[in-house]
Amino acid sequence: MACIILRGRIPMILIEHAVVVSVDPERRIFGDGSVLIDGERIVQVGRAVDVRPPRPPDRVIDGRGTLVLPGFIDTHAHLSEHLSRGLMPDEIPVDRYVPDWYVPLYASITPEEEAAAAQLACLEMLRTGTTTFCEAGTLFDVPAVARAVDAVGLRAILGRWTWDLASGPGPLKQSTDETLQLTGTVLAEVNGKLSPRVSAWPLLIGFGTCSERLIRGAHALAERHGTGWGMMQFASHPSRKTADTLPLATLDAWGVLGPRTKLAHMVHVDEADIALLARRDVKIAHCPSAALKHVKGLSAHGRFADMLDAGVCVSLGGDSANGSNHFDMLRLMYLAALVPKDARLDPGVMPPERVLEMATIHGARALGLEREIGSLEPGKRADLIVFDLDLPEWRPLLDPVNTLVYSASAASVRTVMVDGRVVLDERRVTTVDEGEVLARAERLSRPYLARAGLAARPKWPML
Ligand SMILES: [Zn+2]
Repeated sequence: MACIILRGRIPMILIEHAVVVSVDPERRIFGDGSVLIDGERIVQVGRAVDVRPPRPPDRVIDGRGTLVLPGFIDTHAHLSEHLSRGLMPDEIPVDRYVPDWYVPLYASITPEEEAAAAQLACLEMLRTGTTTFCEAGTLFDVPAVARAVDAVGLRAILGRWTWDLASGPGPLKQSTDETLQLTGTVLAEVNGKLSPRVSAWPLLIGFGTCSERLIRGAHALAERHGTGWGMMQFASHPSRKTADTLPLATLDAWGVLGPRTKLAHMVHVDEADIALLARRDVKIAHCPSAALKHVKGLSAHGRFADMLDAGVCVSLGGDSANGSNHFDMLRLMYLAALVPKDARLDPGVMPPERVLEMATIHGARALGLEREIGSLEPGKRADLIVFDLDLPEWRPLLDPVNTLVYSASAASVRTVMVDGRVVLDERRVTTVDEGEVLARAERLSRPYLARAGLAARPKWPML
């Protein structure tokens, strides 16, 4: 009988007697708290004594010795570099990244390889507590990747490779009209069609590779389809000596900056830029690990704390498997909190509560999903992480947010839910065969790199 009732819907789940860090508007933490989930949504959150299921839950998770947190939201993630993770040696000159490595890698990848890389990246995110992400705009077969992401069970926004001023072999060569037409096709094919959790936005490569007509066209497509749009940029001013040649003020004059604009990286901004970003409510994806590894001058020039002070919505991104090289939000939060402290000689400049907001509720705002995710509140979608507190890194538990940001590791991620579905259950992935995903990545990686004319060259002898 129970099976018949449950068929076709997700059951009611009660997580009880956990430390619940809600990230709700009052930022309440319940020391002995419970979360009740009915289907895809959270229906009650609060002190354990106050959470009363209207009927016996289908599953009760004993939350004693655990901490429950909203799922992390990564707002800038290049999926397909997961098949080439760790390929690029540190000593490559920065100006050779694109021509010698990224162009052959991206020009050679097949839909099967993109999907395999995406599933590997999704499993890494799932196991480190990220439940929603936004791709960087570096995919070619977006529907194939959308299906692969949906199979793992994550929530995602994906984007097609979109540029017109720069070029390259194969799919990298595209005119302004072609690239706009291809992006429009992707939005029409993916949004509302393949999965309720996976959608697509116009996401431009940026970095000076996009014409005014393309940027205006991408913005118009986003308006027409009711989506956000995004672009990568390191500097807002040409004097900063990066590849960027597009001042923010110019983008503003074109009328493309607004609450549904997401700019990734943005290490170099000045006072006027910050005021403009705040005025237009532009969303920023800060990628601390990539900025450090790719020597963008984060500690010397980063102004992310100033942006937050000015009211700019700054979220966090893991970037890529050769720039970061991980999608572990705990490590991103750690860097986001520490780098500005040392740079400013001010330990109070980026407290742990602030970076946890970046990883959750700001991420939700950046993706236009703040009414759906980013906090544990009745009515929101049940995207959450259950951390195991019975590990040395969590004890003693004096200040949960402090310990989460500065001490915890992904080893304590025990259970993860997306849309009320348990996708990681007591450390076991429930949606796909994890071993198969890992084996496929291992099997596809070297032939793919060989086709791109590249190979890993470890410096120490492999015996
Ligand atoms: Zn990036």
